[in-house]
Amino acid sequence: ANTPLLTLNNGTTIPQLGFGVFKVDPDETTRIVTDALEVGYRHIDTAAIYGNEEGVGAAIASSGIPRDELFVTTKLWNDRQTDAEAAFDESLGKLGLDYVDLYLIHWPTPQKDTFVQAWTSLEKIYASGRAKAIGVSNFLVPHLEKLLANTDVVPAVNQIELHPAHQQPEVTAFSREHGIAIEAWGPLGQGKYPLFETPEVSQAAEAHGKTPAQVVIRWHLQTGNIVFPKSNSRSRMAENFDVFDFELTSDEIAAISSLEREGRVGAHPDEVN
Ligand code: NAD
Repeated sequence: ANTPLLTLNNGTTIPQLGFGVFKVDPDETTRIVTDALEVGYRHIDTAAIYGNEEGVGAAIASSGIPRDELFVTTKLWNDRQTDAEAAFDESLGKLGLDYVDLYLIHWPTPQKDTFVQAWTSLEKIYASGRAKAIGVSNFLVPHLEKLLANTDVVPAVNQIELHPAHQQPEVTAFSREHGIAIEAWGPLGQGKYPLFETPEVSQAAEAHGKTPAQVVIRWHLQTGNIVFPKSNSRSRMAENFDVFDFELTSDEIAAISSLEREGRVGAHPDEVN
């Protein structure tokens, strides 16, 4: 089966399962993204700060896959919020693309208080057609409230840390109420806590003859999240993509959801500058 497409609030579609390249070594990115495209991924999530946009672009260029079958996201780094149009041009140049599918403000950096200004630039980029959708990342409710009150375009997505131990119910509910889709970063908890060994996950894996990682990815898909797990290994890329031949029961979903512990593994958005 194919990756489902979700429709964002501006009518563009996004493959619900993609491939993320955080911490993918720039020197290895072309090989790794080429593997991901061969495995079947059509949605790649990168960022200026990852330093690997050129490798992503090279893999896309040599893949022969028509551009309109791919979904490419990149992100504006924190030190460019007052200089977003130039930063965007640099990213587009490194990717070797005429447009990206989604451009995100990477962090709100509320202490700098420049995300409204940055968003105004993203609105211009969006109007020019060089980003087919624009969104935010790591925005909490107060950040979203301020953005919505002061700008015109509602973000298409909010990409936040989200996995069973850290489900962010407030920001998720607020985002969805405003038509903002949730992208879950660190969907597997970045391997930083023993998620795969919990009985809630391992029992579902056993019941379906799938791996714990596949169960967690399925939990995301069935709860409506967009996800892009990362792996350097082609066999795990394939494993993480092979999740469309089974369905978790509502009891299994509820059991995994009960793992909520406010267990953030990454930085707190108010503390990133
Ligand atoms: P993740 O939850 O996808 O975890 C990746 C880790 O899980 C890797 O170390 C890998 O070895 C392991 N893993 C992957 N597949 C596995 C499998 N099948 N079995 C066992 N282990 C497996 O974490 P992530 O990479 O941080 O998040 C995914 C993507 O989200 C990133 O690549 C990036 O694109 C995005 N991201 C965004 C932000 C942000 O601030 N917006 C922050 C972090 C990540």
